Amino acid sequence: MFLSIENNIAKVLESIRADEEKYQRPPCSVGLMAVSKKQPADAIRQAHAAGISDIGENYLNEALEKIAALRDLPLRWHFIGPLQSNKTRAIAEHFDWVHSVDRLKIAQRLSDQRPPQLPPLKLCLQINLSGEASKSGAAQENLATLAAAISALPKLELKGLMAIPRASDDVQQQRTAFARLRQAFETLRQQYPQLDTLSMGMSGDMSAAIAEGSTMVRIGTGIFGARD
Ligand SMILES: *Cc1c(COP(=O)(O)O)cnc(C)c1O
Repeated sequence: MFLSIENNIAKVLESIRADEEKYQRPPCSVGLMAVSKKQPADAIRQAHAAGISDIGENYLNEALEKIAALRDLPLRWHFIGPLQSNKTRAIAEHFDWVHSVDRLKIAQRLSDQRPPQLPPLKLCLQINLSGEASKSGAAQENLATLAAAISALPKLELKGLMAIPRASDDVQQQRTAFARLRQAFETLRQQYPQLDTLSMGMSGDMSAAIAEGSTMVRIGTGIFGARD
C-alpha cells in the first residue's frame, strides 16, 4: 500500500506538470493537496515522505486524531469539509487553512476563535456553482458582500475561492463549471488583488481544473486509492 502511495504521488505530480505545460500555465503554479479522509495517519506520513506538505481533511474528529499523531511533521492542514458552528473552535485552533466557508457567521466565529499567537487562518470561500439548494457553498450573487465582510475580520486571511462542481465525465462540462469559478475569482481579484488561490480539481477532473486556472488541486483517491 505504501509503495503505491509513493508511486501515485509521482504519477499525479507528473500529470500536473504535463498539464501545466499543455495549458500554458507557469511551471509549478499548481499546488497539490493530498486529501486523506478515511485514511490512517501512517498513510499521511508516507505521503509526506514522498514530498507532500498540504493535507486536506473533511471530518473534524478524525482529523484531530491525525493532527495529534503527526505533530512531528511540518504539515499544513486544510479543512475542506462541511462546517457547523460547533466545529469552528477546534478548526481555528488546529488548522492552517479552511476551504469551505460559505457564510459570514462561520467566518466571524473562526476569526474570534483563532488563538492570538497563531497567524491568521487562511480562507477560501466555497461557491455553489450549480445553484442546487442542497449543496453547500455560497450563491455567486452573495460573493462580493461576503468577501467584503470577511476581509475586515482580523484573524482571517482571504486567499481565494473553492468549488466542487457537479460530477461529470465530460471534460467540456467540467471546464465550463471551472471557467465560471475562475471568472468569479478574477472579478473578485479586481477588488482584492492579494487573492492567489483557486482551489479546484479532484481526482476525476484535475486536468480540466488546471486548464481553467486552478492553483491547488485536491486529490484523494488518486493518491491513497479508493475509500471504503
Ligand atoms: C474527498 C474530497 C476531495 C478528493 O476527492 P477524490 O475524488 O478522492 O480525489 C477533494 N475535495 C473535497 C472537498 C473532498 O471532499
